[in-house]
Amino acid sequence: MFDGIVMFSGGLDSVCATHLLLSQGLKLKALHFVLPFYSGLDMQHKPVKAAAEKLGVPLQIIEEGEEYLAVVKNPAFGFGKNANPCVDCRIHRLITTKKIMGAEGASFIATGEVVGQRPMSQRMDCLHKIENHAGLKGYIVRPLSAKIMPPTIAEQKGIINRDKLLSISGRGRKEQFAYAVKFGLVHGAPAGGCTLTNEKTADRFNDLVRYSPDFDLEDFKLLAWGRHFRLSPSCKLIVGRDDADNIALEKIASASDCLLDLPDDIPGPFAILRGTPVQEFLSKAASFFARYTKFRNEKSCRVTLTYSGKEQIVEALPAADEECIRLRI
Ligand code: SF4
Repeated sequence: MFDGIVMFSGGLDSVCATHLLLSQGLKLKALHFVLPFYSGLDMQHKPVKAAAEKLGVPLQIIEEGEEYLAVVKNPAFGFGKNANPCVDCRIHRLITTKKIMGAEGASFIATGEVVGQRPMSQRMDCLHKIENHAGLKGYIVRPLSAKIMPPTIAEQKGIINRDKLLSISGRGRKEQFAYAVKFGLVHGAPAGGCTLTNEKTADRFNDLVRYSPDFDLEDFKLLAWGRHFRLSPSCKLIVGRDDADNIALEKIASASDCLLDLPDDIPGPFAILRGTPVQEFLSKAASFFARYTKFRNEKSCRVTLTYSGKEQIVEALPAADEECIRLRI
């Protein structure tokens, strides 16, 4: 049994909010949501685990998948500046949290939200709209801004002492930093760093919607990894930039992708050509791939293409930088 469920990013705000409630002796469970880009990849989520451990709260990690596609494909409240459907995303996550609140016999949900901190989802009117749409009116406590918001049910019932909550608003984080220092709290990056708020991700997302409107979860997951090149309306090349990209791309690759790497265990990137490429684009992909290997300044680079269960080694001329820049998404 828990008193409350806290939506826990592991960032500064959620850590401070959790600590404020724990200081009142409340029993909390922390819930951490992982966007689909990072689901199913055996990621360790070390920063959030460290933050929860330091606070002494049990942590449940929820990796989002298919159900998130509906949120991002058709958000009822639209997108923010980039590919971030923040209002729908919050509603979706709150509905999931509500189920866990019920299952755990908890009385409230807590978040690290601060009134006025984010333009789209944390305006006062928007916070109310989100909780109404999630069917949670009166159940969501924002300990950092609680004193400038109407009392929640848990405060009215005396489960939470409102006097011990804060009245922070706006974008600055001076008060939260001071609070974290005072209590020696461990936290991740303050802004949270959502991939969907990234301009580059938005370009890739718009490209995906344009050329593959029926995109699936794996297509969506790819957006967060590697360098992307639109070679034709029907095919796209993704080349790993580092080990993390290469590992993720290998895990996301499907049986219908053409896979590219260097032969003979020579270290280098891993790449995926997704779509229905004709021979011309297989050659082009090999040439682009070669540009990102250590043979980029050579006249030729041997590239292994694995496609339709067959493996072939081709000689590719590394592509010119201007060509790569021109087709990069
Ligand atoms: S910033 Fe990202 S994770 Fe946060 S609400 Fe917006 S879309 Fe969802």
